[in-house]
Amino acid sequence: MELSTASESLLMLIDFTWAVYNNCCVDNSGCETERQSFFDHVPDAYDGKSIAFNESPKRGQKKTAEESKPESPKPEEETPAESPDKTPVQETIANPITMDIVAADPWDTKYSMSSRTPVKKVPIHLQSAQSRLLIKGGKIVNDDQSFDADIYIEDGIIKQVGTNLVIPGGARTIEARGKLVMPGGIDTHTHMQLPFMGTYAVDDFYSGTKAALAGGTTMIIDFVLDQKGVSLLEAYDKWRGWADPKVCCDYGLHVGVTWWSDQVAKEMETLCAEKGINSFKMFLAYKDVFMLNDDELYESFKRIKELGALGMVHAENGHLIAEKSKEMLKMGISGPEGHEMCRPEEVEAEATQRAITIANQANCPLYIVHVMSKSSADVVSKARREGKVVFGEPIAASLGTDGTHYWNKCWRHAAGHVMGPPLRPDSSTPGYLMDLLANNDLQVTGTDNCTFSADQKALGKDDFRKIPNGVNGVEDRMSVIWEKGVHSGKMDPCRFVAVTSTNAAKIFNIYPQKGRIAVGSDADIVIWDPKETRTISAKTHHQAVDFNIFEGMVCHGVPVYVITNGHVVLDEGQLKVTQGMGRFIPTPCNAEMVYGRVAKRELARMPQKVERDPYTGPVVKIENQDEVPGVKRDENPIVGDTASFAHSRPPTRGGGRNLQDSSFALSGEQFDDKAPRRAQIRTSNPPGGKSSGLW
Ligand SMILES: [Zn+2]
Repeated sequence: MELSTASESLLMLIDFTWAVYNNCCVDNSGCETERQSFFDHVPDAYDGKSIAFNESPKRGQKKTAEESKPESPKPEEETPAESPDKTPVQETIANPITMDIVAADPWDTKYSMSSRTPVKKVPIHLQSAQSRLLIKGGKIVNDDQSFDADIYIEDGIIKQVGTNLVIPGGARTIEARGKLVMPGGIDTHTHMQLPFMGTYAVDDFYSGTKAALAGGTTMIIDFVLDQKGVSLLEAYDKWRGWADPKVCCDYGLHVGVTWWSDQVAKEMETLCAEKGINSFKMFLAYKDVFMLNDDELYESFKRIKELGALGMVHAENGHLIAEKSKEMLKMGISGPEGHEMCRPEEVEAEATQRAITIANQANCPLYIVHVMSKSSADVVSKARREGKVVFGEPIAASLGTDGTHYWNKCWRHAAGHVMGPPLRPDSSTPGYLMDLLANNDLQVTGTDNCTFSADQKALGKDDFRKIPNGVNGVEDRMSVIWEKGVHSGKMDPCRFVAVTSTNAAKIFNIYPQKGRIAVGSDADIVIWDPKETRTISAKTHHQAVDFNIFEGMVCHGVPVYVITNGHVVLDEGQLKVTQGMGRFIPTPCNAEMVYGRVAKRELARMPQKVERDPYTGPVVKIENQDEVPGVKRDENPIVGDTASFAHSRPPTRGGGRNLQDSSFALSGEQFDDKAPRRAQIRTSNPPGGKSSGLW
């Protein structure tokens, strides 16, 4: 891929999306007319769209969204015998173009990255390009309303919504009577082929997105996540290089900030301005690997706020986990249950509260990834009620199962559930999180899909700290949430669409291109049969991993058809995907849903100076009481100036210590070397209460 061309196209797309954005209202306050007017550029569906295969010589190359949207339909993988009902497009094909077809057998997939994706070439004249689709008779469900209507799709875009549509010839009709027609799911949190703990997540961008489509998810947002010290831009390129040739559905990226420096701050700006990134994730856990300290976290939040991006946090206290896990091993607890016990709920809740406090001090909107416990969810919910700009993301795992599995007698079974933060042994947790999700205390759902097979999990057979963290979910998220949320009567189908798709599109600023069924939106659609059931099993799932944390769960609500970019990829239960067909979707900064009230809120909370007459009375004279010869006392006991020799940065405007500063000196000198030593200071009732903790 030509990087320069790609970034140019990306810039164009960002401009385009930006233009789109400024024109339309993205909340639910009912400005349908405005929204439609923004899509005015979409040519009328009847204006004889010509399908020009000759004009697509770039098909083998990676497409940006801008390029590929108006392009003629991309051929789809299919075995001719499999779909005799499809109407071939009446076109003369001048250039036989070949494309990659994937022989779909996830079972022979090994996590050796090279052998993962067998391909064969099929000439294009053997494929039918199904670009025109009519979805007839279904009930359309958006996050704010549901209604009976037909949908006409052409070239990957929804061109008409309504009844009695006039449709050009050659369109395939999908009968959706009795079914729900919903925006395809957006999984906000995946880690395909993540290098982690010395191995790679077994589901890569191919098998992972294939499984997503099988379950009704038509877009994933993955994480660029490299080691400390690695350039964020290089890491971004690495992930694009992995994902672009493999993704079967559209995808976006968050970028992990695992270290802090001026270079990182600078690269974040480039990522936002040129690379389609609007969200950065920081870790309070994984000490020495990904973890940032509180001062670095504060700096990163300030930067994110400047850029109009969204701060995301993995909230667990990494220091405590490091200490507690050593204690577990000392007690002889080396199995998966130790993983939960060394990081119980309050360790998650404390870090969630701390992240919210620090983000709020930086006036930075915050997104808590994988809310796993009741107490952490309560912290998020309370912060929202206090007016803080915070979003909470429970995941399929925390909504669908619980941490009692860590005590299972089978080591593999228990280890299969190991993830961070862990599932909670309190079995009422999933129901509680679902209640909060239904009532908007939590807003959006992901999966943290990061899968490791038995032999990989076995790295930690003698020490739970070495079990690669991660579980499945990308395929089953929609069904699990339908079963536990809608079928249980906690939420209606509109809320289901909000929490599985629309809210994600709004938070990551790709609405209404994604997350809505409307004229002009991408044709990412799932046709859902709420009456059918399926049983989840590793034997039948499409993921490459050999284990499923939802094994045996019977789910009402089954995707019958899944359409991504206008292509029917799940066709009456038949999965037909094309490797590399998905596009990278840039996520522009300053999302309305995220930043809509941040500026006003900042103004309202601005510190106010009190204007008053100067004090003119007497001031007590300080005697040099217990002065030690040769030691100069600081004028300011809080920000001492004797320490300044070790600091290279001046204090902040407010007079505080510059948090990027360090008191480390190459000479080995300590800032308090010259301070007098005292034997002991005992405070019996310190402010804030007694501390007998670890530090
Ligand atoms: Zn994650």
